Amino acid sequence: MALGGLYKRLVVAGDTRTSTAAMKNAVMAGLEIAGAHGFDAGVAPTPTLAMAAADCDAGVMITASHNPPEYNGIKLVNPDGSAFSPAQQGKVEDIVAKGSLSAVNWMDFGESGNYRGAVERHVDRIIADFGGVYDIKVMVDCGCGAASVITPDLLKKMGCGVTHQYCYPRGYFPRATEPTEANLAELIKEVKKNGAALGIAHDGDADRMMAVDDKGNFIPGDKLMAIFANEAGAKDVVTTVDASMAIDECGFNVYRTPVGDNSVSWRLKESGDFGGEPSGSWVFPEISLCPDGIYAAARLVEIASRKRLSELVKDLPEYPLLRGSVPVVADMTVIEKEMEMLNPISVDTMDGIKLNFKDGWLLVRPSGTEPKMRLTAEAHTGKRAKELYETGQDIIKKAAMESVRAR
Ligand code: MG
Repeated sequence: MALGGLYKRLVVAGDTRTSTAAMKNAVMAGLEIAGAHGFDAGVAPTPTLAMAAADCDAGVMITASHNPPEYNGIKLVNPDGSAFSPAQQGKVEDIVAKGSLSAVNWMDFGESGNYRGAVERHVDRIIADFGGVYDIKVMVDCGCGAASVITPDLLKKMGCGVTHQYCYPRGYFPRATEPTEANLAELIKEVKKNGAALGIAHDGDADRMMAVDDKGNFIPGDKLMAIFANEAGAKDVVTTVDASMAIDECGFNVYRTPVGDNSVSWRLKESGDFGGEPSGSWVFPEISLCPDGIYAAARLVEIASRKRLSELVKDLPEYPLLRGSVPVVADMTVIEKEMEMLNPISVDTMDGIKLNFKDGWLLVRPSGTEPKMRLTAEAHTGKRAKELYETGQDIIKKAAMESVRAR
C-alpha cells in the first residue's frame, strides 16, 4: 500500500519459494487498494524483473535472494534497474512505520493484470549482444531458483550443449542457494564428469552467478571479476571495500564502495564500465544497473568459447585472503583506536575500518544482518594474512570485553 501511494504503475515478480505466491498476492492487493496498477510478471529472476521495470515506475521482486528457503523478502528497483536508494527505501519504510496507509475510494482502485513476455524480453536483449553460435558444453545449476525459467533456454538458444541439474522451479531447494564453492560440490563433479567447458550456478533470484572452469575448479569471485573486466576491456571498475587487492594489479582504475551490490550499482550510476562483488554479483551498466546473473552467464559462455577458463584463471594474481567473523558486538570507536596503533599506511572508514599496509590489509566491520563483527585480511604471504587476521580477532575480542565492562 505504501508503494502504491508513491508509484502508479509497478511490475511485480517473484522467485520460486513456497511463500512467494502468497506474498505476491498480498503485494498486488496492497497496490490496488492504494490506487496503483500492478503487473504480474510471474516467476522471474530479479534482473529479468529489473528489465521489465523500464516500462513502469518501479519494480517489486519477492525474494530472499541467496538466503535459505524459509526466508522471504521484497526488493525494490527503479526503471534503470538500480535498487531503491536509502532515501527511497526510507520513504516507504516511514509510511509503513507510521501506519499512514490509506485506501482509495472504490472508484479509484488500481487495475492489475499480467506482464507478459518479461523472460522473452530479457533473453532477446541478451541475444542481441551475443548473436553467434557458441557450440560448447555447459553445465547449469539453478538450485531450483528463478533462473530455472531462463538460463538453460537462453544458453540452448546461443547454441550451447546444455546439461542441467536443479533447473525446475521448486521452493524446497535441493542445495543451499548461495553459490559458494561448498554448496556447488555436485556441479563441480558434473562439470568434470561431462567434460564441460564451464559450469554456471545461480542463487535463488539469479542476480548472482558463479562458475566452475573446464578443469572442474570453482572460480573464486575475485578472479571471475577480473576475467569479466579484462574481457570487457573495462577501464573503470567498481567493487567493494572487501574485494581482493588482486583487482588493483590488473591495470584498471578501481573504485571501492561499501559492501553490498547496491552500493556498486549506485556508484556505477555515476560512472564506470563494469562493477561487481566477489560473492557473485556482476553489474554491466550497458544492459542494466541491476546485477545480472543471466547476462553474466551468457558473457562467460562467450569468453569460454574463445579461451579456456582454467588458463585465464591461471594468469591472474592471487593472494592469501581470510574471511570470517567474531560472534560479538563491539564498539567501533574502541576498535578504531586500537587498529590505528598498528601503523597502517592509510585508513579507510567507508564501511567499518580498513587498514592498508604495504604488504596487505585488514578490514573489520559490524555485520549488517547479524550480531557479529566481520573480519577480512589479505596479504602477500599466508603468514602475514594470518597475522593480520589474528590481530583483528584479538582487537575485536578486547573491544567486546571493554563494552561489556562499560555496561
Ligand atoms: Mg540474489
